[in-house]
Amino acid sequence: MSAAGTSKLSLHCNHCGRQVGETVHTRSSYAVDYYVLHTGAVEPMTIQRADEPYGRITVLKLIEPRTVVTCADCYRQPTIQEERDLLFRPELSSADEPEAATDAR
Ligand SMILES: [Zn+2]
Repeated sequence: MSAAGTSKLSLHCNHCGRQVGETVHTRSSYAVDYYVLHTGAVEPMTIQRADEPYGRITVLKLIEPRTVVTCADCYRQPTIQEERDLLFRPELSSADEPEAATDAR
């Protein structure tokens, strides 16, 4: 029947470049070797609702899907955690955040 099985894609850490392995399970615990973050650039898009002639909704369209792989070693580094945080929530990279303005002085 089918000849070649699906060969596993080898993943590499986006930060240090080392190859990462599968999560290893032992009887009592497991060792995670890498973390994957799915992110990407999004773009707001207004679409016409089908059920309402004047109804419009705005959705975020993923225009540039991106997968970030972080190995367990890099994951422990604060700078890399910060980097991942920014990738996950791009709006935080712009310094001013009007919503969360705290001017209690
Ligand atoms: Zn790494």
